[in-house]
This record gives sequence, structure tokens and C-alpha cells, in this order.
Amino acid sequence: MKSAKQHCRHAASPDCRKVRDEVFHLLDGRLTAARRRAIQGHLEACPACFSRLEFARIMRQVVRQRVLAEQCPASLVKRIRVMIARDCRPVRGR
Ligand SMILES: [Zn+2]
Repeated sequence: MKSAKQHCRHAASPDCRKVRDEVFHLLDGRLTAARRRAIQGHLEACPACFSRLEFARIMRQVVRQRVLAEQCPASLVKRIRVMIARDCRPVRGR
């Protein structure tokens, strides 16, 4: 019987700590390709770190929206939102 591939299950694993430290750099695109690949490999094997990445991503989005909302005129923010909404919608035949 094959033993299942060992995932890192300990939240305190040094790998997990490193990955969690670097998640924000990953989102910022500040990591080298090799580092990014290493982290993505870890994320695939480690659901705990993966959900951390998702959380970080959502946090960043919220923060960015707040910043935008405060620094840009409301009309511009509204226009950007409309643009994003349009992009997300499937294009209908015209
Ligand atoms: Zn991990």
C-alpha cells in the first residue's frame, strides 16, 4: 500500500511560515519565478496556506478599493466599477 504524500499539516512548519510571509510579495509580483514556483507547489499541497493566500488576496482587494474610493472622485470609481463589471460579463453576440 502506497503511503499518501505527506502534506505539511503543522501550522508552525517553517515552510508554512516562509510561505505566509511571502504571500503578499507573491501577490505583488515581487518574487522571482523560481520562488513563485516553489510557493505555488507548497500551496497545492497545503490547504492551510492556500486559504491564507485567498484571504490575503481578498484583503488586498478591499484595501485597494478603500484607497481608491477615498482618493478618487466618486464618479471615477463608479466608472472603473462599471468597466470591471463589463469585463467580467460574457460578451454577447452583437
Ligand atoms: Zn503550508
